[in-house]
Amino acid sequence: MRPVVIVGGGLAGLALGILLRRQGVPVSLHEASHYPRHRVCGEFISGEGIEILDALGLRGGSMGSHVCLARTVKFLFSKHASTTLPLPHEAWSLSRWTLDAALADRFEGLGGTLVTHSRIRRGALEPGWVDARGRRRRGESGAWLGVKFHLPTIPLEADLEMHFVQRQYVGLCRIETGQTNLCALIPHALPLRNLASQPTRVLGELFPRLKSRIEGLEIDKDSFVSVSALHYGGGSRQAPGHSVQIGDAVGMIPPLTGNGMSLALESARLAAGPMGAWSRDLLDWGEVCRQIQQAHRQRFGRRLAAARWLQFALIRSSSGWIQSWLAKGAPWLMPIGFRWTR
Ligand SMILES: Cc1cc2nc3c(=O)[nH]c(=O)nc-3n(C[C@H](O)[C@H](O)[C@H](O)COP(=O)(O)OP(=O)(O)OC[C@H]3O[C@@H](n4cnc5c(N)ncnc54)[C@H](O)[C@@H]3O)c2cc1C
Repeated sequence: MRPVVIVGGGLAGLALGILLRRQGVPVSLHEASHYPRHRVCGEFISGEGIEILDALGLRGGSMGSHVCLARTVKFLFSKHASTTLPLPHEAWSLSRWTLDAALADRFEGLGGTLVTHSRIRRGALEPGWVDARGRRRRGESGAWLGVKFHLPTIPLEADLEMHFVQRQYVGLCRIETGQTNLCALIPHALPLRNLASQPTRVLGELFPRLKSRIEGLEIDKDSFVSVSALHYGGGSRQAPGHSVQIGDAVGMIPPLTGNGMSLALESARLAAGPMGAWSRDLLDWGEVCRQIQQAHRQRFGRRLAAARWLQFALIRSSSGWIQSWLAKGAPWLMPIGFRWTR
């Protein structure tokens, strides 16, 4: 069988590696970083991604029964708030520290070759190589800053709390360690001094409803991570021609949908069949690329467009009456938004 090389060991790369190993394909995976590691993420997994993780053997296996189940959500704006609403489908809240390491273990357990601290230069990859390097960095103009850290347990009004203030938002959910994950997206243009040294104070100023609940809390310092120059919602950017990209390397869905991880896993599943056929010499590389690109367009095009619309509605809604309408309408708007982005 022809060997496959995957560049990038996030959810997309690791899931594809596991699926290919199950077909007996020789796979090596290069990851610039290592495991376990903290990543900027809301750590809320929903939709088909959960079934895929289950099918990859992760529910019981290395994660034990530690996954936190999320069943409710609440939306909070400056002056208005929805009621606590049931999520249309049960979701998981699980740290990337645990999840990525469990997938890496599984990949290696199936005989995959994992090369950590191995950064492959950007640019076109050869036939048999898959680009799973995640989102591309662009300039800071018009971009966002993402930050996440773990707090000691704090009482939440729902399994997932989403706070929107002007053009920034923060999500809170309990994770498997019992801690609370806090993940915020903030426009780059905001002057945020001391965010790294005093994150709860700075975020408490930005999100007044959270102030009394988080200010002064001792965060888990090792879990503090941030990413800058975040752009998303630009649609699919599958490179034309003879290359295979999966996950965020194709296009990043706005994080507030809580669906990027699922999309990365689904993207890996779409690529696994054609890549396995290429390895067994049943498809030529051009056909593999064409099939994978077409499957991505068909499967994710509508979803990415709906997610962009949702983001626009929630993030741009700084006027009081729109927020009041969103908060009151949440019981019927949320299930629609949830379905459209999954
Ligand atoms: C602020 C924020 C909050 C989010 N919250 C959620 C959420 O709550 N729920 C949800 O479902 N999704 C969320 N997401 C989205 C989710 O994190 C991503 O969609 C998902 O991680 C994409 O997986 P991936 O494997 O495609 O890319 P990544 O997870 O980015 O993995 C790419 C990997 O490639 C490696 N790499 C990069 N370049 C190279 C190179 N040159 N050589 C070798 N390795 C390389 C990187 O180190 C990385 O490990 C959020 C994203 C952000 C930014």
